[in-house]
Amino acid sequence: MADPALASMVRAMGLENARHYTAATPKIKAYRDRWAELAKYRDGPVNPRRVEVTAPAEMATQIKAKAFELGADMVGICRLKPHMIDLGEDLPHEYVIAACVAEDYEKVLLGANAVEEEAMRVYATCSDIATELAAHIRDLGYPALAHHNGGSAVQAIPIFYQVGFGELGRHGSLIHERYGASFRPGFVTTDLPLAEDQPREFGVQDFCMHCNACMRNCPGDAIPKDPVITDGIKRWLIDLEKCYPYSRLRDEYCHLCVDVCPYNVRSHPKTYKSFMKQRKQSGYKTPKSW
Ligand code: SF4
Ligand code: SF4
Repeated sequence: MADPALASMVRAMGLENARHYTAATPKIKAYRDRWAELAKYRDGPVNPRRVEVTAPAEMATQIKAKAFELGADMVGICRLKPHMIDLGEDLPHEYVIAACVAEDYEKVLLGANAVEEEAMRVYATCSDIATELAAHIRDLGYPALAHHNGGSAVQAIPIFYQVGFGELGRHGSLIHERYGASFRPGFVTTDLPLAEDQPREFGVQDFCMHCNACMRNCPGDAIPKDPVITDGIKRWLIDLEKCYPYSRLRDEYCHLCVDVCPYNVRSHPKTYKSFMKQRKQSGYKTPKSW
């Protein structure tokens, strides 16, 4: 288990694994099998006949077009920096490409299992995209390594921010202007020369200061009111000991903080309003501004 906080809670409860992982549906098991199978294709031989890149911006456009063709909804590129690499890992590459796929937000109306199956479907799709994109870049004559649920050495949030996908919300996930936090990633690290994207802010953190939907809907009371600033970055620290009993230590995965976020309203206005009506009927409060 990669998460030390979760591992220690599971040990303290005398369990071998988090219940959420052992209670997977057949569909979820099939998605997990898919990304596990792709693990052996993360890397591979590089074509010795290299395509020379004289215009990194043009190459970035081509690589993004390829990622969209493979099924990505959002693609961004930045230089790979040490804080984007997992502790203890060593990646020699210059760039990282984030290729993300949006989840079908309609699933929120069907309950926690449907939301979870959708998340796993998207993770499996992202694994396919990252694998094929890395193979495509190696065909161009440059090293490229895919990172996905079947094996990864990169940190998602700092990459999302740097490639301009959005800003960190109060619920601890990064919010995209169109998809909210309802998306999942795959990554490719490479030496292929590429033009970089830039961070893009559009007022998320100011909005969060006045919106409390995630905080008020969190069953574990795990989302704080006040942010902290660490290394110059403003963020809200989720209390994992309060979150995990709902999100990892039960059969059904809790995803409510992301599902109630008003940034989902832009892609799915009717569904968002119906879902919030359901939440209100369950006794939770919908923010006045929505
Ligand atoms: S996953 Fe659930 S319990 Fe955890 S912070 Fe989000 S709403 Fe709260
Ligand atoms: S629900 Fe509101 S406070 Fe929470 S992350 Fe979304 S916008 Fe920010």
